[in-house]
Amino acid sequence: MSKRVAVAAANWKMNKTCAEAATYMADLKALLPTVEGTAEVVIFAPFTALATVAAGGSSAGVGGQDVFWMAAGAYTGEISLGMLQDVGCTHVLVGHSERRRRFGKPEPELAGDLGCVFGDNDATVNKKLTAVVAAGLVGCLCVGETLAERQAGQTDRTIEAQLRAGLAGLDAAAVANTLIAYEPVWAIGTGEVCQEDEAERVCAMVRGVVAALYDQATADTVRVLYGGSMSGENVDGLLCQPNIDGGLVGGASLTVAKFEPIIRRCAKG
Ligand code: PEP
Repeated sequence: MSKRVAVAAANWKMNKTCAEAATYMADLKALLPTVEGTAEVVIFAPFTALATVAAGGSSAGVGGQDVFWMAAGAYTGEISLGMLQDVGCTHVLVGHSERRRRFGKPEPELAGDLGCVFGDNDATVNKKLTAVVAAGLVGCLCVGETLAERQAGQTDRTIEAQLRAGLAGLDAAAVANTLIAYEPVWAIGTGEVCQEDEAERVCAMVRGVVAALYDQATADTVRVLYGGSMSGENVDGLLCQPNIDGGLVGGASLTVAKFEPIIRRCAKG
């Protein structure tokens, strides 16, 4: 089995103006030629900053943080794959837990009595990923359990269900080219990183589900990333694991200085 090229993926979430994105991309462009080894770097930026990221002249991939599957029409506030491609996107994030979760009691300032804001579910995630693949872009499918699911012993069942539903209808070649990010919801933005051996166990399980759904070659090819409070301090322990092929990184990707050790560790192989 050939070694998989690791991926250092930045998720800027709802951060950065175009001017801030331009500064970041200039710093990243200067950094990447100094990195020893091989890694794929992808920047998942807000829609308004994507053209700036693409114009930055670095070798990094350019990723949208979401997409709607329809090509055009009366869908106020949505963005199509054609629009993402128009500004140079190569990748699209699909099913991030911040888009799946139902805001309720813990975050009343966001939802008030509404109970649900973004509301992606396994069915919409599958439609989005299918559209991304059909457009020839690389999807990054996010899966992960909530704290309540983990405490109830439902981690593996939750992730397997998200994978089965999210990948439904895709062929082996499409899945081999898709990134899968294991992101335990309780570890995202909390500073609480999943233990290395547990992250490895779940990422191996993800690969096992792909093998069961498709075949071993597809499972051996697909890149499985870990996401959840990854930083320069913990990246080495995570990337040492045989089934972790990189990181989807939020907070620690917001400056090139913080992202640099993650990129360098991914490139080390
Ligand atoms: C993320 O945004 O997917 C993420 C993992 O965030 P953080 O690294 O801040 O936990």
